[in-house]
This record gives sequence, C-alpha cells and structure tokens, in this order.
Amino acid sequence: MEKTQVLIIGAGPSATVAAGVLNKKGVSVKIIEKESFPRFVIGESLLPRCMDNLEKAGLIDEVKKQGFQTKNGAKFIDNNNVCDFNFSDQYTDGWSWTWQVKRADFDYCLAKAIEDRGVEIEYNTMVTDVEFFEDGKSITTVSDKNGNSKQISADHIIDASGYGRVLPRLLNLNKPSDFPVRTSLFAHFKDDLRHEESEGDRITIIVHTQEIWIWIIPFSDHTTSVGIVGSPEDIDCYDGSANEKLQQWIDKIPELKKRFGSMPTLFDARQITGYSAAVSQLYGKGFTLTGNATEFLDPVFSSGVTFATESGALAAELVAKNLNGENVDWEKEYADYINKGVDVFRTFVTGWYDGTLQKIFFTEKENELMKKQICSVLAGYVWDSSNPFVKKHKRALKALSNAI
Ligand code: FAD
Repeated sequence: MEKTQVLIIGAGPSATVAAGVLNKKGVSVKIIEKESFPRFVIGESLLPRCMDNLEKAGLIDEVKKQGFQTKNGAKFIDNNNVCDFNFSDQYTDGWSWTWQVKRADFDYCLAKAIEDRGVEIEYNTMVTDVEFFEDGKSITTVSDKNGNSKQISADHIIDASGYGRVLPRLLNLNKPSDFPVRTSLFAHFKDDLRHEESEGDRITIIVHTQEIWIWIIPFSDHTTSVGIVGSPEDIDCYDGSANEKLQQWIDKIPELKKRFGSMPTLFDARQITGYSAAVSQLYGKGFTLTGNATEFLDPVFSSGVTFATESGALAAELVAKNLNGENVDWEKEYADYINKGVDVFRTFVTGWYDGTLQKIFFTEKENELMKKQICSVLAGYVWDSSNPFVKKHKRALKALSNAI
C-alpha cells in the first residue's frame, strides 16, 4: 500500500496552495485528481487577498510569469449609475491588485509548479472511498480511468475536491445552503471592441434587475468571460440550447449586444444550477475540508478562489503543526476563523440580492471612508476586525443603508 503523510483530494487552487504550504514545511504530500489538466472550471476573477495565500505557498512567482490580466478593481453598473472600486483605494493595508484568469491555465500553472517541487499529482484518478481509524489515520481507495483501484494510507486527508464534495458526500456532512437555487449561463467571447482603459483591468457587474446580474471578466488574450446569473425561472425564460439562451440574453441587454452581439464564443455556453452549498462541519478526526468542498455562497463578489486558497493555506499550516506533535484547536483555529470570513460575505451577498448593497453602491451621497472600508471587503480582507464592515458587518450595512 502507498503511504503519505497528507493526502489531498483534488488539484484545484485550494489543493495546490495547501500542498505548497505543506511542502515548504517538509511534510510529504500526494494529490489525487479526477481529471487530466488543463481542465475547465468556472471562477475567473480573483481577489487581492488571494495573493497573500499564493505567496504563503511559494507559488506567486510562477503565476506572475504567465501574463494573466491584472485586475485593479470592480465596477458595478445600474443603467446610468456607476460605482467603481479601486483596490488601491482601500482601508486595509493589503494587495492593491490581483488577476483575472482562465482557470484551466491558472490551475494548471499552480499544479505544474507544485509538481516541480516534488509533489506527486496523480491525474485521471478518482477518490471513491475513505476509511478512517480511531487515531485519525485513513485508507483511501482510488480508481483510475481504466478501473484499476489501489489504496493509499495517510495520516491526514485534506479534501479540496471542490464541486466533487468527496468527504461531505461519503461522511454525510452536506447541508443545504441558506441561499435559494440560482443558475448561471456563461461563455468566453472574443472581445475586439473592448475599451482597454475603462474595461480591461477589472470585473464589471451589470445590474439587470435586483435579482439578475451579469459578469464581464476580461482576459489578457482579448477574450472575455460573460455570464448571467438569476433564478432558474428567470434565466431559462428563453427556449433552446444554452448557446441560444445566452445569445438571446446578450441581444436583450444593450451594453452586451453592442460589445458581444456579433462576437464568436470560444466554446458552447455552459450552465450551472444550484451551486450554493454548505456543510455541517469543516473538520473531523484525520481530515479537513477546504475550498468549495466546504461552503460556497454565491459568485457575485468573486470570493470562491480566495476562500479556497485561504482555507487551503490555513488547513496546511495546522496539519503540519499537528503532525509535528503540537496541539491544534481545530474549532477555534480553523472553523471559527474561516466561518468569520464567510459570514462577512454572507451578509454582503444577502445585501446584494435584497437591494441593500445596490442602494449603497449607487447612492449620490458617497462617504469616502466607508467606500474604502467596503472596498477592503470586496478585496477579500474579511479578517481585518478594525474595519467596521468586517467586525459588525450586518449592523454597519444596515446603518449605512438607513442613513442613505
Ligand atoms: P475546484 O477548483 O473545483 O477543484 C476541485 C478539484 O477536485 C477538481 O479539479 C476536480 O476534478 C477534483 N475532484 C472532484 N472530485 C474528485 C474525486 N472524487 N477524486 C479526485 N479529484 C476530484 N470564484 C472566484 O474566486 N471568482 C469568480 O469570479 C467566481 N465565479 C464563479 C461563477 C460561478 C457561476 C460559480 C458557480 C462559481 C464561481 N466561483 C468564483 C467559485 C469558484 O468556482 C470556486 O470557489 C473555486 O473553483 C473553488 O476552488 P477549489 O480548489 O475548492 O475547487
């Protein structure tokens, strides 16, 4: 039987950041990945906080070499009203920029960098079962594309399987999300009509109605990701294939029609429905859940990869400490910390769909300090308790909305 100290399920950014941190600490790691890379996954607009985690894992220099599109902010548009956040104009002392990436390239670059450091990634291999023992050690059964199975023994498992949610499924830890089922229809378009200066270096979110919004995420190769999000009833109001539905949405919205109406897509449009998910616990004896294998709220503030890397890095630090014989208070040091950040975004996502944030973003009575504080939340700095929109997120948003 193969043996490793830490077995990581999945090779997305949560996994590779965790592997990077463990590898730096001299812990032996093995990654099992179901697909072959590069593979498509959605989640293309990063947040500045992500950069701290890539740095912690020793991966940022490799990403810098790829020439990804830099992202300096986020722009929200509602008819003629525009609210533009520049990450250089924020309250928390942190990164003022990040990247917009095609995830196939980004995740592949991270995975190759980890392999170059000696971590083995077994592609085309799927985790099918895990048996845990009383001391937390485990035996994982994996199966390759040809149906050959084998077993791997590990001291600890980090489940970074994203939408696969391997341990939540096997251990019955899945919980329904607080949010209603929403759907998203998207594709990558050629983007020859982009205004580089105003549209190139940030994500643009267009408010169509309070419940329906569109993302525009430009990449450095003059292609752009466009997606529309809303309830399944709203988004599926058109007939036809995903491509035909997306085209009808593009034609309906003047800003989109002008820029993308006659542009080809790079692949057939895709649709994902019901992606919000939660879990009853983030860790257990011998395992830690990270990234999208935990809770995923909503795509509106692009927080997914930031939480994936934050939880991956922290889980790895704590696992290394544990393997070194030190005591870890997983509830306090891991679950409480991660949940604190998730709760800030939960308030913001709720406030987006109930109209509170849209009111705040598009007010004429802009308050400079509060805009900076909100900007830091949108940059992913959701653990800075000196920021009132972090420390008392619910109350701060409500008070500001009432004042407006
Ligand atoms: P993943 O990147 O999903 O990686 C998990 C890996 O595990 C996969 O490669 C998978 O093949 C592998 N795996 C699964 N099952 C198994 C198994 N049984 N055995 C072995 N391997 C397995 N986030 C952002 O930050 N910015 C955005 O702009 C953004 N937009 C989004 C838009 C939409 C519509 C949605 C739904 C999500 C969006 N997200 C965004 C969220 C983002 O997709 C995720 O948060 C992010 O990909 C999570 O990374 P991860 O490393 O946890 O998992």
